[in-house]
Amino acid sequence: MQFKCVNCGGNVVYDPKSGHMLCVNCNSADSEEIVKQDNCYACPSCGAQLTVNDFTSATKCEYCGAYNIIDEKITYPYGPDLVLPFRFSKEQATELLRKEFKDKLFCPNDFLSQRTLENLEGEYVPFWLYSYDTHAVWDGIGTKVRTWRSGDTEYTETSKYQVYREMDIDFKQLPVDASIKMPDAIMDIMEPYGYNDLEPFDAKVLSGFQAETYNQTPDQLEPRAREKANRDTESLLRSSMTGYNTLTPTRKDIQHRPSAREFAMMPIWKYVYRYNNTNYEYYINGQTGKVYGKLPKSIGKILFTGGTLFAGLVLLMKVLQYVAEVF
Ligand SMILES: [Zn+2]
Ligand SMILES: [Zn+2]
Repeated sequence: MQFKCVNCGGNVVYDPKSGHMLCVNCNSADSEEIVKQDNCYACPSCGAQLTVNDFTSATKCEYCGAYNIIDEKITYPYGPDLVLPFRFSKEQATELLRKEFKDKLFCPNDFLSQRTLENLEGEYVPFWLYSYDTHAVWDGIGTKVRTWRSGDTEYTETSKYQVYREMDIDFKQLPVDASIKMPDAIMDIMEPYGYNDLEPFDAKVLSGFQAETYNQTPDQLEPRAREKANRDTESLLRSSMTGYNTLTPTRKDIQHRPSAREFAMMPIWKYVYRYNNTNYEYYINGQTGKVYGKLPKSIGKILFTGGTLFAGLVLLMKVLQYVAEVF
């Protein structure tokens, strides 16, 4: 299906800046109507066959440039429950890239030229969100060691304690990306998203962007969510047992009871720049504005920016990345 303008017939797309629908032709706001074709893989504007793969749920017509949404990929069983609409428009994403790279020593002249910017595309990445009611029990022995000296003799006193912890943890919406083509490492860098801003799915916000339905089922990806939940549970348990020199569990029991599973779409801007026969990829979190990418002639720098929201985390990642570069 396609969103078309009732005033002029132009393609109507979602405008991240205003949060409204906008006609690309006459600039009317919220003037859309839904136009469908019997064959949902043909463009209602020009009739051309759309280029799609098994997962495509929204795409741009290669012939007329109109944005299409593939009906059967946004309804059961492929439709998302939730969506995080784009907050940064294409212009804003371009501005973020410019700001990030303008002072760099090496930046090809056409790096962000009008022509190459054609490659900057907004895309919704599929995610499974797992929620758990977790119950954790830790039972074991903790020791505290005290040493002191009296005359020529050193004394060591080891006290043993029975340590018992029981915790109930609410894990809400642990994200695991469900796109095969989107590298996990990139999505790890793009996270976190502000999951509180997730909205019930509305096909409108896909208009103007590419989108994919999930490539893998929630069962296939659940081990990754449980791994995250386990890691966080362990660290919560540990942080509740400070002050011991050693801790030896005799019993550790962590149970995750699934409380919800949701399919959500997260926004990302992707820019592919071709230089010396090599593709360089740049990513911008469509909600937070965090930028990731390497300049063509590497001067050993990885560049980040971000909203103030996640500044602390970004800084930490910057350091981590730097360490990774060095070794
Ligand atoms: Zn119009
Ligand atoms: Zn078309």
